[in-house]
Amino acid sequence: MTPWYERCYRWAQTNIADKDAERYDIPWWREQWKRTAVQAVIVNCAGARITFYPSKFPLQRRNLFLPDRDLFGELATAAREDGIAVVARMDSGGVTEEFRKAHPDWLTRTRDGNYGNSPCINSPYREEYVTGIFNEAIQRYQPDGFADNGGLGGSVLCFCDRCARRFRDDRGKTLPPKVDFSDPLYREWLRWSQTRILEVWDLNNQVTKAGGGPDCLYLGMVRKFQDNAREIARRTPLLLMDSQSRNDEGSFRENADEARYLHSLVGWNNVVTEAMSMTHHSHGYFRVASDPPAEARMYLLSGIAGGWQPWYHHIAAYSEDRRQYEIAPPVFQWHKKNEQYLVNRTPVATAGVLRSDLSSVFYARGAAPQLIQTPYRGIVHALFRSRFPYLPIHIGDMEREGKNLSVLILPNLGAMTDAECDFIRGFVKQGGALFATGMTSLYDSDGEPRKDFGLASVFGVHIEGPLPDRMSFAAPSKETYLRIPKGRRHEALVGFEGTDILPFGGLLTGLRVDSGRDILLRDEQTGMPALITGSYGKGRFVFLPADLDRRYGMDPQPDHARLLGNLFRWAAGDRIPFSVEGPGYIGSYLYRQPNRLILHLTNGTGTDSGDEIMDQNFPVGPLKIKVKLPADVRGGHLNFLVAERSLTLALRTGSIVEFEIPRLIDHEVVVIE
Ligand SMILES: [Zn+2]
Repeated sequence: MTPWYERCYRWAQTNIADKDAERYDIPWWREQWKRTAVQAVIVNCAGARITFYPSKFPLQRRNLFLPDRDLFGELATAAREDGIAVVARMDSGGVTEEFRKAHPDWLTRTRDGNYGNSPCINSPYREEYVTGIFNEAIQRYQPDGFADNGGLGGSVLCFCDRCARRFRDDRGKTLPPKVDFSDPLYREWLRWSQTRILEVWDLNNQVTKAGGGPDCLYLGMVRKFQDNAREIARRTPLLLMDSQSRNDEGSFRENADEARYLHSLVGWNNVVTEAMSMTHHSHGYFRVASDPPAEARMYLLSGIAGGWQPWYHHIAAYSEDRRQYEIAPPVFQWHKKNEQYLVNRTPVATAGVLRSDLSSVFYARGAAPQLIQTPYRGIVHALFRSRFPYLPIHIGDMEREGKNLSVLILPNLGAMTDAECDFIRGFVKQGGALFATGMTSLYDSDGEPRKDFGLASVFGVHIEGPLPDRMSFAAPSKETYLRIPKGRRHEALVGFEGTDILPFGGLLTGLRVDSGRDILLRDEQTGMPALITGSYGKGRFVFLPADLDRRYGMDPQPDHARLLGNLFRWAAGDRIPFSVEGPGYIGSYLYRQPNRLILHLTNGTGTDSGDEIMDQNFPVGPLKIKVKLPADVRGGHLNFLVAERSLTLALRTGSIVEFEIPRLIDHEVVVIE
């Protein structure tokens, strides 16, 4: 039989608030599970604040209202009777004041000997206490798995005796005196600490599987831009993310982006699911009130388009705002009806946008939001605006994924290993295209500066003069401009015929450019090269030392999107599998299954690019779609899964199918067979 974690495509979570012990209406919720066709529920089991069953551990605080009610047990039994998998929610990250007083020696310590608020990862809390709770819950209830909401700790430099001893035993060294990325001893501690987190993850899985059987998984929440997500994905067949709304993800399109990233880590035939809030969470928190239905629905739909298996979240078991209970049912019923097209599929993309934990940790040195995440978000926003098909991937997977991609995009990946630089050189030499920005490859695997770019031979660009300060890319905007040099204009500058300058906002560093490369833009004041293109081997490259990706991530200036879009298309040549024409803020995502293509379209017009909460849809259309057919797809039959209509086409010559969507309200899915 297929294990539960491979067949649960629709999830529900009703968080249990204190008062819910008295008012949890289990028959009502069973009806709601049925209305939403959910296959797995996440139920609060044990946590720092409250434990929802009569635990024998005296420090696990019981519910104030009905301390003896076994709410977890009642819910688990009800779900089981309805054929629904039960995932026990844990909260192992924090502990109560009472707990801290009982076990001060389990807490982290500062160098001065002061106690922190959280247990140390190397204390018995992790290896004995929490694992004891897993075993108790397994013996009582046999849950299908555990979802741990808290982090495992380990990222704080702790000076307790256990940490000192363990680091000495493992690495033969004393603890580093402080957080200092330029100190090799600190970097060694950090790498050791990252390993410890994964060891504890593995330990938890050993315990839950030993007690609950091989399918009883320990699962933690992955967060956006978490720098060990790939390591975790190698250890689990199912990824859970907590990013409940646009408050967490920034936009509908980023919700889709995150689903695609996690699928690229764990595989497209595995389940990735994300808590999506039905209560007011999207801009500020009013968590008893319903989210405006259009907003929460669009968050669900954009997530499904990106590949999340949907999971709805309510903050408590009862609310007087009943509107929140009507959002999920139609979406989840539609999902159930069309499930075969929404799982076990692979994306079709031209470009891969690379993420790198090495750069986030060792190049950014605590400034990843400014130096890494903002350039990434700017690049993917510009790709979205250009309707350019891309896939977010981890740099460690570029060898596997690169075989199906024409362009690799490196948004300010400051730190790269020599092997990563070698792979990129080979990729371009053999005909792939490279798009790199900022300080990409200027730092080594420790985040220490190189003398020149690791990819200097591809760019034909070299550092001249002193190295730039890595934090110069976090500086606020200035009124600076870029100039288009006189003479023949490059095709990537199409649309800018009426201007010789473009808004910039940043400052450039000293660079020397080899002959044979095109300098498309220069700093208007200093003349420094800002945008360089050319060829290397059989491939093309774009190098953009001007941080227009980061600028676009901070402040979406349309000229920057147009320029970036032009450059993506120039780099790709004709290797773009589909196009969507027509005005609107449209997301488009193409997938393959054997003998068919599946195209998702989402409409965020009027809200997704701004601060508004969606409370109505702004329909767009007609949209003109062209899709290149692979050899195994005939393309004569189109099925529109939202409009519930189908279309048979007399196929034109060649391998392109063309059709129109007359009106797009919120989303459409077109199956091409
Ligand atoms: Zn410690």
